[in-house]
Amino acid sequence: MRMSEEEFAEYLRNNKRVDGRDFFDPRPLRMEVGIVERAEGSAFVGMGRTWVLCVVRGPMECVPSHLADPEKAVLDVAYRMATFSTEERKSPSPSRREIELSKIIREALEPAIILDEFPRMMIRVYCLVIQADGGTRTASINAASLALAHAGIPMRDLVASVAVGYYEGKILVDLNAIEDEICADVPIAMMPSHNKITLLQADHRFPLARLRDMIEAGRQAINKIYDLQRKTLKEVYEKIARDIGE
Ligand code: ADP
Repeated sequence: MRMSEEEFAEYLRNNKRVDGRDFFDPRPLRMEVGIVERAEGSAFVGMGRTWVLCVVRGPMECVPSHLADPEKAVLDVAYRMATFSTEERKSPSPSRREIELSKIIREALEPAIILDEFPRMMIRVYCLVIQADGGTRTASINAASLALAHAGIPMRDLVASVAVGYYEGKILVDLNAIEDEICADVPIAMMPSHNKITLLQADHRFPLARLRDMIEAGRQAINKIYDLQRKTLKEVYEKIARDIGE
């Protein structure tokens, strides 16, 4: 769906979002772990029409071996968009954007993972965007954090993430693709129990004086995402406990 900026601005002036959500509401969330049997950890995250599958392999031998770090495990993150994830077929070759987002997602996750428990090893994280409608990096971070926990990788906290937008004085949480195209956009990731921000980016201009309000709005949505991440993991472990008769 395309929309002119004038049409978009009209929605906001009438205090409405294009998909009818309240300004601080995240999109409907879906989470599931244990999707891929062959992997140590896997997770699906849906944030509205943005869907990401994340697979975690390892800890395993570091390949290529010259990348091995004697102090800690190397975290390798690959973010890709499936060719069918966008309206127009996306080229299958990795774009500069995908390479950059792989690095950004890795940096958002690293502070939460206790990497020094696995010196010389590698942990691989694959994030595949199945359907893209804005916020694919934040959905990837949410899915990767779930998949890492599902793989049993020791972590200080989960990482939860959302993008917060700004347009003509209004703050909008969890932007869809139409909103992402028009608004200034601040993707945020946090380790909620540690009250620590692990990612803060800014795309386009917005008044710096509103940044604190934007982070606060993001925090509310992040807490909702975090609660569902924990509930999703808890249900899996409760089922395992039931299956082994504990
Ligand atoms: P994010 O997905 O984290 O918001 P961007 O701001 O780079 O990252 O992208 C915004 C949105 O633009 C994506 O979620 C997707 O819906 C759309 N998009 C990105 N890259 C492409 C592409 N190659 N083809 C079509 N749409 C794309």
